[in-house]
Amino acid sequence: MADALMATYNRLPVSFERGEGAWLWDTEGKRYLDALSGIAVCGLGHAHPRLAEALCGQVHTLVHTSNLYGVPQQQALAEALTAAAGMERVFFANSGAEANEAALKIARRLGHGRGIERPTVIVTDNSFHGRTLATLTATGNRKVQAGFEPLVQGFVRVPFGDLEAVRAAGHHTAEVVAVMVEPIQGEGGVNIPPDDYLPGLRALCDERGWLLMLDEIQTGMGRTGTLFACQGQGVVPDVMTLAKALGNGVPMGACLARGGAAEVLGPGSHGSTFGGNPLACRAGLEVLSILREQDLPGRAAALGEALLRDFRERLGGLTGVVDIRGRGLILGIELDRPCSRLVGLALDQGLLINVTAERVIRLLPPLILDDHQARRLVDDLSGLIEAFLQS
Ligand SMILES: *Cc1c(COP(=O)(O)O)cnc(C)c1O
Repeated sequence: MADALMATYNRLPVSFERGEGAWLWDTEGKRYLDALSGIAVCGLGHAHPRLAEALCGQVHTLVHTSNLYGVPQQQALAEALTAAAGMERVFFANSGAEANEAALKIARRLGHGRGIERPTVIVTDNSFHGRTLATLTATGNRKVQAGFEPLVQGFVRVPFGDLEAVRAAGHHTAEVVAVMVEPIQGEGGVNIPPDDYLPGLRALCDERGWLLMLDEIQTGMGRTGTLFACQGQGVVPDVMTLAKALGNGVPMGACLARGGAAEVLGPGSHGSTFGGNPLACRAGLEVLSILREQDLPGRAAALGEALLRDFRERLGGLTGVVDIRGRGLILGIELDRPCSRLVGLALDQGLLINVTAERVIRLLPPLILDDHQARRLVDDLSGLIEAFLQS
């Protein structure tokens, strides 16, 4: 049945027909609790009534015109995002990888403007920045790169969370123009850097005249307890990329910038046919206002703390459980062994989870998860993990 599709995904044997909040129903009518949100995309859950209404209204009015013309929804969303993030300008794209491509192009332009011939971006081990050629090169995972060589030039890699390594990389090459990191590595295994990492990077970038480019594609839009994860660390980057939850499932990405980084891309230097079209921006505007009106970042912070506490209580002392970590609603339970088999076992029980970096159970539940659903998540998943570790 799937033969007409390229075999790029290892799909689970299930298809969903409809959703409501944190619930999904498959084509057989079986119900699932969604603790993954389509990989951190549906932060407001499924079929959110207000968002559905806004999108229907926009579809009935105008879906697309192109960037040859003014797009008022794009202007409005850019104003709302820059004000919220402490940034100045936005370029809209259609995905996370494209948002990061824009960031990398900004860094290179800025470098060339300073007479640097081979502008270089510092990136980290275990990072994930996307699947285009530049972003897979930036990604710190050989599996993502293998077979797609030659890779793109102009990157140096350092360990994640290691400030001194970034400083040292700057001493090796005089051509560094930017540092690109995730505030918390998602695909890499829910890796949370030391508290002084982002502030330290900010200070180092200021000292060296580098751009601090934060990939908030997975951590943004309230997931970590603040609208953007860097706000929890008191750090404002020069460039910030967003995608995933920005449109709650309507594909869109955004590259936000301030200072010199906001000025380098002039007419004709970059573009996107679909980027920031009326439908996508209507989605972004509605998502942002719902997040704020209902203080869903605050909800994510409180719920995340409760989940962390409850999982630690249930699983903390268990042999085989290496670490239980998270911030807001990005949570990782690290085991001492590969555990991707848990995904299928959870599916059978009506629970959607993910395993990344082979041994880390990653949870990215919607921000609208209620207390009862959170309880069920802890009970069901803890039971599964206990049984798995004994098997
Ligand atoms: C998902 C993700 C991307 C890539 O986004 P796409 O929309 O799949 O291109 C980039 N960076 C991070 C941190 C991500 O989580």
